[in-house]
This record gives sequence, structure tokens and C-alpha cells, in this order.
Amino acid sequence: MQFETIPHPAPMPDAAREAAIADPGFGKVFTDHIVTIDYDEDKGGWHSARIGPREPIALDPAASVLHYAQEIFEGMKAFPHADGGFAMFRPEENAKRFNASARRMAMPEISEELFLEAVRLAVKTDAKWMPPVDGGSLYIRPFMFASEAFLGVRPAKQYKFVVILVSTSNYFKGGVNPVKIWVSQDYVRAAPGGTGAAKTGGNYAASLVPQAEAIAKGCDQVVFLDAAEHKWVEELGGMNLFFIRRDGSVITPPLTGTILPGITRDSLIAMLREEGLEVREEPYSIDQWRAEAESGELLETLACGTAAVVTPVGTVTSPQGEFTIGTGGIGQMANKMRERLIGLQNGRVADQHGWVMRV
Ligand SMILES: *Cc1c(COP(=O)(O)O)cnc(C)c1O
Repeated sequence: MQFETIPHPAPMPDAAREAAIADPGFGKVFTDHIVTIDYDEDKGGWHSARIGPREPIALDPAASVLHYAQEIFEGMKAFPHADGGFAMFRPEENAKRFNASARRMAMPEISEELFLEAVRLAVKTDAKWMPPVDGGSLYIRPFMFASEAFLGVRPAKQYKFVVILVSTSNYFKGGVNPVKIWVSQDYVRAAPGGTGAAKTGGNYAASLVPQAEAIAKGCDQVVFLDAAEHKWVEELGGMNLFFIRRDGSVITPPLTGTILPGITRDSLIAMLREEGLEVREEPYSIDQWRAEAESGELLETLACGTAAVVTPVGTVTSPQGEFTIGTGGIGQMANKMRERLIGLQNGRVADQHGWVMRV
């Protein structure tokens, strides 16, 4: 498929852009362009691929996404390399997961090649939005939503696939600090048979009240337990978890359909095994978490995801009280894994896995 280029009449002037990307934070400094591809079941599927000025999207008030939330997204990054080029980290995994999410939400798949081409085109076009700061990246947000004007409940026949970019420094203000976690008592994120393994906006909508509760309790993030027994630790609102134990084993909750299959999670499983640790994907209970933290058997708990890379969990709070992981600081494995991942992404650590794709 050929992408049409719609010229931008007025990209942001250099001085304004440079000011905007000097300390962009996360999620608010958007670039000049947008990639769009339309889907119409009656027109043979995907068509009208284009890149043009970033502008509001016109939607019919009856567009299905506004009523029934048929929507999916991805989160990935482009990183600067020393030679002036850019790289992405395992982007074909994002393309695969996008299609897995699409299947669960009864949406059309998009070929991995087209997905990657759209993402690459966006990054190349807005390359000068890469923030010139340590840890800076272009956060890439591909998404798809049902645009058909129809209030009957069935999968829509029309969709839009869109890629936008966000200039990004650090996800958490103030760099790597251990996060304080609140154990949600009254809410769950995902149930067996539900949409927990799909990257869909509804999962995030459902997490906002428990996340607000976490903030109200003086914590940074919420951790969800399983819906059936309210006993097994699943994940944070947008990050997977690893439990690093003194006996050389590491536990991460298994992908049973209620947990988002993180690409950082998958990468960490491989990297921790290369460290000689025995990584097991098995259920880990909230009681075990507390007991092993208190006995010292648990050395570290890592939270991981594209946005925040690897972040140590410092304390865990629930109505039963608070417990601290290790010293409550940044553990050795958190540091090591974080440095290695960032090194791979920036091209400073040799890529033995073929994980890094030049843009
Ligand atoms: C995106 C996401 C993650 C992390 O996935 P990565 O591919 O590592 O970025 C974890 N949990 C949830 C709920 C997510 O949406």
C-alpha cells in the first residue's frame, strides 16, 4: 500500500519545537504529523493510507467507539542511537499483539508489514521531535477505533488506524524512584474470559477509580488481584511484575488471559534467565508476597513496561498494613535489568537477540 503525503502547511517553528522538547515529560508534547489508514468492509478493507498534518479527527456522533468502546492501542518507542539514527525495540511484537487485541475486540487485523511501515513513516517524518535529553525517546501510539455511525450492537464495518507520536523524557517525574503500591480491595482489572489480555481502552477506564484510590492512600500505583479468589497478584494498571527471590528463583504471574502480555515482561524473562536465575511463570499470592518480604526471602519486586522500563516496587500498602520490599530502595537486579534494557535500546549494549530494529 502506498502512503499519500499531505503537505503540512505550518509545522511548528524550530524555536518553539526546541523549547517544547527540552523537557517534555510524558504524554503531552505531540509532533506535527499523523498517519491514518481507513478500513471499510464494503470497500475491500484497508485503504487511503496517508501522512499529513496532525489535526482533530472528525467523527459522526454515532461512531461506535463513542458508545461501545471498540478500540485498541499499542505503546512503543523510538530511541536515538549515537550515529544519529533511531531504533525501535521488538516492534514486530507490538504488531502481533495489536492483531491479537483486534481479534479479541472483533476488529479487523492489519498486516504486520503495514503496521510497521506506518510506524516507521511517522518516526522518520517527525524525527526532529526526538528530545535531546538523557533517556529521551519518541513514544509511538498506534491505535484503532470503530468509526462507523451505527447504534446497533455488533462489530462495526468501518475503522480508522492512526499513529501519533509523543516527545518523551521520563515517565515518572524525578527519574527512577521505587514506587509505592496500593493493593486494590474493591476493584479488579480483568476477569477470566474478559478483555484483560487485550490492549484496549476499556481496561484503562476501569482502572481509573482504583488508581485514584491508590493516590488517595498516598501510593503511586495500584496492583490488581485476580477476580475469582482475590488472592493472586496479577499486575499494575499498566505494568507487569517480577518477584526476585533469595534462592535464585524469579516468579512472574502466568499469562492466563487476565494479564497483558508485556513485551518488556517477555524480554525480562529471557534476560533474567541469562543471569542464571530460574524464572518461573506461576501464580504468586498476596500472602506470599507479604510473608517473603517480611522474612527477607524476597529481595526485589520489579514492575516493567515500555513507558517506565523497569521500576522497583518499594512498599506495598493494604488495609492489613504496609510492607517494604528489601531495603525499600533500588535493588541490584532492578538496576542491572534497567541499564541493560536501556543500553540495548540505545545501541550501547550488543544486541544478541535481534531485538533492535533500525528505523
Ligand atoms: C502495555 C501494558 C503493559 C506493558 O507492556 P509492554 O509491552 O511491556 O509495554 C503491562 N500491562 C498493561 C495492562 C498494559 O496495558
